[in-house]
Amino acid sequence: MRLNISGIQGRKGAFFKVQRELPGDFLSTLPEVKKVLGPIRTELKVTNTGDAYLVAGSFTVDVELRCSRCLKPLGVTLEASCEEEFLKETALDQDEELLEEQLLVEGSEIDVTGIIRESLLISLPMKVVCSETCPGLCPSCGADLAEGDCGCAQEDIDLRLAPLSKLLELSPQAARPERRKDDGSTEEETFKGKDK
Ligand SMILES: [Zn+2]
Ligand SMILES: [Zn+2]
Repeated sequence: MRLNISGIQGRKGAFFKVQRELPGDFLSTLPEVKKVLGPIRTELKVTNTGDAYLVAGSFTVDVELRCSRCLKPLGVTLEASCEEEFLKETALDQDEELLEEQLLVEGSEIDVTGIIRESLLISLPMKVVCSETCPGLCPSCGADLAEGDCGCAQEDIDLRLAPLSKLLELSPQAARPERRKDDGSTEEETFKGKDK
């Protein structure tokens, strides 16, 4: 998505706001995303700060993920925001390594596609659950335990679910999606670890 900034060029402090929708197709290439349910809704404010153009934006998109316990499809709205600066082309007198990381104005346009994508990728939760109390699948036969007892050895199931129910009591926010940038010590992993 390219934005024309000619209206605020040369006017320090000037800004404009824009609301647009753009296709979220790129998200469907991710293994976690089962379906993209609609366009990415974007709201952006672009400000001429004198040295650069500051882009502050928020983005949402509806996607279908899977419950990480029972694997049922689950509608989730991803929300992300960004605050990034685009440097003016004339400010290019720094070493090349720095430049590769920098966003640059191209003539009278800035391309915000990259920052929108990056923000949404970071917002993707590693684990989502359909319900805090979702019992998940039977570890022996794979049956959905929410639909009743599958008849597998009860002892086995109790052992596996015990640490999980303890975790659910301890963390009232278990239903909140965990963020990708977390350190990876998720509840599900703790649960599996204790099982060994
Ligand atoms: Zn579930
Ligand atoms: Zn079973």
